[in-house]
Amino acid sequence: MVVQTERDDMTWYECEKCGLLFDDRDDASQHEENCDSEGPSYIQ
Ligand SMILES: [Zn+2]
Repeated sequence: MVVQTERDDMTWYECEKCGLLFDDRDDASQHEENCDSEGPSYIQ
């Protein structure tokens, strides 16, 4: 799920899996669909 967050008076969209920030919700959604990070990195 993409998380909306405010930073530097801008709205960002954060990939909940890896924490990457996007300025576009669609970009964030698309990234997250392909994100290979599975939450907290307890698997090394
Ligand atoms: Zn990600």
